Parts: sequence; structure tokens; C-alpha cells
Amino acid sequence: MPETHVFSIPMRTRFRGITEREGMLLRGPAGWGEFSPFLEYDARVSAPWLASAREAAFEGWPTPLRDTVPVNVTVPAVGPEQSAAIVRASNGCRTAKVKVAEPGQSRADDEARLEAVRDALGPTGRIRIDVNGGWAVDEAVAAIGVLDRAAGGLEYVEQPCASVEDLAAVRRRVGVPVAADESIRRAADPYRVRDLEAADVAVLKVQPLGGVRACLRIAEDIGLPVVVSSALESSVGIAAGVALAAALPELPYACGLATVQLLTDDVAVEPLVPRDGALPVVRPEVDAAALQRLRAAPEREAAWLARVAEIDALMRQDRTS
Ligand SMILES: [Mg+2]
Repeated sequence: MPETHVFSIPMRTRFRGITEREGMLLRGPAGWGEFSPFLEYDARVSAPWLASAREAAFEGWPTPLRDTVPVNVTVPAVGPEQSAAIVRASNGCRTAKVKVAEPGQSRADDEARLEAVRDALGPTGRIRIDVNGGWAVDEAVAAIGVLDRAAGGLEYVEQPCASVEDLAAVRRRVGVPVAADESIRRAADPYRVRDLEAADVAVLKVQPLGGVRACLRIAEDIGLPVVVSSALESSVGIAAGVALAAALPELPYACGLATVQLLTDDVAVEPLVPRDGALPVVRPEVDAAALQRLRAAPEREAAWLARVAEIDALMRQDRTS
């Protein structure tokens, strides 16, 4: 059993219904790996997350092809002044991902937010919108036209509808490229997105898809440009996303890896936050004092060890049946 540490880090704002990000770090000969499936995930869903952590700890990652990875700033569904302030405070990010279609808000709210982001970014910045599956097909087609004009041009629209079939239908009717995010959760999903020609861009997250090498294989198989995104990890988990982005043969889009700031604290000596709009391709050094400070309660440590044991038992059972 390798050295393990269970952490619990308060979030700055509630996200996905959680206020604390919990996870386990494991240390192997290649370095630190992060295993942090969300608490409601069962052993079957969490198994690739563990494979990803073990790859980081025991194998390490393929040779990087670049030494920095451009990242986007994320603008939540806030008002125009606050949107502009978030862009200006983004440490030089040249791409903004703007949340739209928030329940209770109007299309005019989205337009005002996009106009403010365009003003703050300038004409050469790139703007993508994230709908989180919030639209029906006809609604998406109409909204994308309006918001493309408000933004002065959209780089792409992320997950305009919930289902892969609807993504494909929207994609056939709009000129703005479509990205699949929530439609890609398990290893089989990217192939379905490809087969239905549902997206122009694939958002890949390292942990749920089983590690950096697994994601490189998927990227090669599906033949779509990839945007690497985080699963709200500490800097140890973010480093795996950075390693994937650094190893992809082509990286035409900024990645969604600037999320360490969503947590109030971090396990690294130097947290992976952007400088000049990019993250460095490094393996962050873990801070022993931070591990102490962020250490989860003993019953949570036991719960995480039990999760690992349950996954290992399941994998053994799969192999013998
Ligand atoms: Mg998204």
C-alpha cells in the first residue's frame, strides 16, 4: 500500500452542490497522484479515477511536447460588471468560457454578460459559451445566433443540449462549432459522440476517463480536437490534465484547467494557477504542512481507503468472471 493522504478543502462557492472538495493523494515512485471521484460515485464509476491516480504515482506521464498550456478564465452567470472584473483579474487569460442559460435569467442577461466579456477581452480574445445542456434543439439554434452576435463571434458552444442526439441536431443547423462535455463521462462516450457526428470539439477529463494515456488513445481514435478540463482537483490532479494537454499532438484551444482558485486552499507548495494566461507543465511539489492543515477526519480517511478496496475487489471480480 503506498503512502496516502485524504484531504478536504473548502470551496470558495458552492459547486455541484458541494462545499468541500474531498479526495485522496497517493505517492508512488513516479510522484503524487490524485484520486477524487465525487462522493456519490460508486466503485464502477470511480475505477477509472483510481487508474488515473495510479498512473500518476507509479508510471508517470508521456513526454510533454510543450512547456506551457493556455487556459481559459470561467465567467459564471453573474452581471456584466462582475463578468468584466473576472476577465480582467484572470492573470492574462485570452480565452473566456462564459456560462449562459442560467435558470431564472433571460437571454438579455446572457447578451449583456457576453458584451461585457468582449469589451474586457478585446477583439482578439476568444469567447466560448457553456450551456450545460440547458436548451432544447430549436431554442439552441435561435439562441446561438443571438449570442454569437452579442459576443462578437463565438469560438464554440459547449453542450447546448443534454443528449448526444440533440447535440448532433444542433450541430447540423448552426455555423458555430459544438463541443461535447457532459456527453463525455465514461470511456465509451467519446466514440458515441464521434459516431453520431455530434461535436466539433471533445472536452476530456483525465480522471473519469482513466488517465493521461487513456485520454491520448481516445483523442487519437476520435480524431476531434480536445479541450482538457478539470474535475475540480487540487494542483496534484490538475497536473495530470496539464500532462495530457502537454502531450497532445495538437492543442488548438485553451484548456479548462484554471480551477484551483475555486478552492480556498491547495496541497502544493506552488499551486497551479495561470500566469500570462497559461499553466506551466510541471509536477507540483506537495507541501507537508498543507497535508496536515487540510487533513480529513479519521472516519473520512477510513471511508476513502474502503473506496479503494471496493474498487480493487470489483476489478478482481471482473477479471475472474
Ligand atoms: Mg462544461
